Amino acid sequence: TKLNVGLLFGGCSGEHEVSISSARSIAQALTAEPNAQKYKLLPFYIGKDGGWRSPEIAQQVLSSGTAISVFEEKPNRWQFPAEVSAVDVWFPMLHGPNGEDGTVQGLLKLMQVPFVGSEVLGSSAGMDKIAMKMVFAQAGLPQVNYVAVTRSQVWSNACVFPKLCDEIESQLGYPCFVKPANLGSSVGISKVRTRAELEAALDNAASYDRRIIVEAGVVAREIECAVLGNEQPKASVVGEITFQSDFYDYETKYTVGEAEWFIPADLPPSVASEIQERAIQAFMALDCAGLARVDFFYVESTGEVLINEINTLPGFTATSMYPQMWVTSGIPYPELVDQLIQLALARHTK
Ligand code: ADP
Ligand code: MG
Ligand code: MG
Repeated sequence: TKLNVGLLFGGCSGEHEVSISSARSIAQALTAEPNAQKYKLLPFYIGKDGGWRSPEIAQQVLSSGTAISVFEEKPNRWQFPAEVSAVDVWFPMLHGPNGEDGTVQGLLKLMQVPFVGSEVLGSSAGMDKIAMKMVFAQAGLPQVNYVAVTRSQVWSNACVFPKLCDEIESQLGYPCFVKPANLGSSVGISKVRTRAELEAALDNAASYDRRIIVEAGVVAREIECAVLGNEQPKASVVGEITFQSDFYDYETKYTVGEAEWFIPADLPPSVASEIQERAIQAFMALDCAGLARVDFFYVESTGEVLINEINTLPGFTATSMYPQMWVTSGIPYPELVDQLIQLALARHTK
């Protein structure tokens, strides 16, 4: 008998559309041979309103590739489509808040049904850039200097805010990067070079998140590594992203032709293997499971490798970095989908 795979996509985050694209590729891989012999696709679409929609509606979204933005009925967030009870294993493919951050993982865990990817701790600690950097520091992973800031500090009286900016300037200097702590796809991130830009960027980031991180800017090549596994995770070959824009911002990420990638990256073998080792260390330090893409800065002038971030549910279209790094490492896309489901089942039965 076939296993019902609950493909969960869409979601309440700025990365709703990206999630639909990722889910389309996964759906295709599940419904083609050889996976179609083992698995039955049971898709669920989470609307931008947070409501879970039936496989019938989800299938429409998968076929058209476009979000449904308005639903007649109000969502009942505590009532799920009846088909939810038939799911044998969940494949959440939600990016960003309300999906990659441990919230949905907690719900799936309470359902006592196995699911692909990290559990609550790995997901939430991986999403929050401040928590993530604290864990990386403890694990001895080199990274840029940073200052953690809260919204209340940014939106405080005229006495606290200038002191905060003084402290950031003296600790980090310019340029620095101001980021909401719990987002992705570069949403809300600014590169700042002056006091006025810093003040505006902090205010902007505070509109996205209670928690904000400011990091010293580095001039570096951007290298990514895919990790796959549970207790003994493996690292893929590493890949590089290049672009003309000032940094890898939202537009550069999602406009065709703005960024180019190279897999494997053209790096000295020792640097590549250092990155692979650190990627696995980062994965284990956060107690990740299944998959994660770990992103690095390689400062060519000094030879330094700095960890930038981990993404526990990275972009997963057939042409995305994570699957493509595995393709080059010898695991075709449909087999990767199969392995991830098997890893979810293996963790659940232990
Ligand atoms: P997201 O989770 O949204 O992808 P990142 O922390 O990866 O956020 O930042 C997005 C991009 O911004 C990076 O890929 C890089 O181009 C640039 N960037 C972020 N932090 C720094 C930094 N400290 N120094 C230089 N560039 C940075
Ligand atoms: Mg990220
Ligand atoms: Mg990133």
